[in-house]
Amino acid sequence: MNLSLKLKNLPVSPGVYLMKDAKHKVIYVGKAKNLKNRVKSYFQKGTDGRLYTEFLVRRVADIDFVLTETEKEALILENNFIKQFKPRFNINLRDDKNFLSIKLEIKKRFPYPKVVRQIEDDGSMYFGPYASASAVRETLRYINDTIPIRKCKDTAFKNRTKPCLYYQIHKCLGPCCDLIDEASYKSLTEQVILILKGKQEDLLDILRNQMYEESEHLRYEKAAKLRDRIRSIEETVEKQRINSLTFVDRDIFGYYIMNDEIYIEVMFIRSGNMEDVASYRLAMNHTTLEEVFRSFLNQFYSQTRFIPSEVIIPVNSPDASLLEEWLTERKGKKVSVLCPQRGDKLRLIEMAQKNAMNAYKVSQTSDNNYAHTLQALKNTIGLKNLPERIECFDISNIFGKQAVGSMVTFEGGKTDKSNYKRFRIKTVGHIDDYAMMHEVLLRRYKKAVEEGDLPDLVMVDGGKGQLGVALKVFEELAISNVDLIALSKDRGKKGISGEKQGEQVHAPHIPDPILLPPSSPIHLFLAKIRDEAHRFAITYHRKLRDKEYYRSPLDEIPGIGIIRKKALIKCFGSIEGIRNATLRQLKEIGKLPEKQANDVYQHFHKEHTENKI
Ligand code: SF4
Repeated sequence: MNLSLKLKNLPVSPGVYLMKDAKHKVIYVGKAKNLKNRVKSYFQKGTDGRLYTEFLVRRVADIDFVLTETEKEALILENNFIKQFKPRFNINLRDDKNFLSIKLEIKKRFPYPKVVRQIEDDGSMYFGPYASASAVRETLRYINDTIPIRKCKDTAFKNRTKPCLYYQIHKCLGPCCDLIDEASYKSLTEQVILILKGKQEDLLDILRNQMYEESEHLRYEKAAKLRDRIRSIEETVEKQRINSLTFVDRDIFGYYIMNDEIYIEVMFIRSGNMEDVASYRLAMNHTTLEEVFRSFLNQFYSQTRFIPSEVIIPVNSPDASLLEEWLTERKGKKVSVLCPQRGDKLRLIEMAQKNAMNAYKVSQTSDNNYAHTLQALKNTIGLKNLPERIECFDISNIFGKQAVGSMVTFEGGKTDKSNYKRFRIKTVGHIDDYAMMHEVLLRRYKKAVEEGDLPDLVMVDGGKGQLGVALKVFEELAISNVDLIALSKDRGKKGISGEKQGEQVHAPHIPDPILLPPSSPIHLFLAKIRDEAHRFAITYHRKLRDKEYYRSPLDEIPGIGIIRKKALIKCFGSIEGIRNATLRQLKEIGKLPEKQANDVYQHFHKEHTENKI
């Protein structure tokens, strides 16, 4: 059906429309309460105030639509399509910020606060989100210092036969060895919850009462410990309290527009305390501020994140009431989306606006430096392209075992984690770094050529040898328009004054490597990328290696699953303990049924039994 026919037959129903260009690529996704009115408005002059209509309409060759029952369903579907197609004319929130939360598994007997990335509906309590790892670390450090709650992970906890050092220094009361009863531990958990909710004043009341009670009963040592805890909390309360209006959880948004870019700042207020901030930089895409916010907020809250009771925004979003309804449904409690015009809430918006402007200023400084560095890199090495998008490779293995390759991507000077890749080496079983690099590069660029997804610059960790391998792959795949370099350490050599020298860049078109002084911006920039590739490869390698290490001889025995394995190790202390156990001990102490006890015993005494036979 051609476009004008489709436009004539648009349904009067809520739904989502997908605008496509001549190559059938989705270039814009939108949602509407009435598809007919909404889509037609794009094609009628003067009916739609949004500037981008013209840009869009000129490129639209086809429109598809999906009907939904309600406008809310359309909103959710719109988000999903934006994530899936990444259309050029939509605001595309690439939220690669690693939001962290603190999880407390309150259903367990002895819970402890742990850091997680995902919020699940599993009956646990979650606190946050924290945009920076340092904010989480600081909160945990404070809790662990203040409350003698358990610090160890589940595996260590289950296998302890005596308490660890934390017990000796009174930072944990030793639940691993039943040195504290469940009820007393529960009161510690409640204290942690009060801190995480920012209700330190309530906690102080509880602790003061406990302190008076202890001193009344002449338990002065316990009273003194409580006094110290009270003092430490009092200090933090003083520092933390900001100009909160109430103890409500709020997300406050501000923005700053410059040169068709918008900087959006979010301040996360939890129980009246400013917990964290996050900044986003997006292209305006010729659209209106209201549309930017509408799309941004929908995408922002479509991700798994904590939903506060109040969302305070600086512009009226056309979807505010829809968003309110959707968030209320997800939270299971009333959520208000407000655009204040006066009063204290407006002051909070002004604070977020100031932060957004500051984010712009900071980005300008780093952008200028970054633009200089890129240009200098291009000129110094004589590259064909300005290296806006760089892919860097590293190989990690120990004596050829568990060999892995990593690829990290830097776009616009920043890590683009959504385009990181890991490769488990498949075809090389021995130590041969060159062959491994060849396999990784071939796998990556065969696909990249097919998908037309090539970067401006490829960098490999290593010297002339690695560069030769990369060049061979480029020749095999007929890639000619991508720059290629290798970065190697200038090992051992020292400068005239004895200072350590930097690194060497090798490139196919330069006969001798170029030496980069350690403090040069180009060196710092390239080394940062190479180190990131190295870190990424090592992390993956460790993961695989740990999997291997955690293999146990018990895995080979049929009928011994994870629960029995853990129970046996807990009972006999180690694999060695199980090996030394008699058949009777396996049955009586290990509580194994006859057959499993026999299998375990036979497994560890195979040789012995076979020799006897
Ligand atoms: S004392 Fe026990 S429960 Fe506490 S941190 Fe140490 S091992 Fe964990």
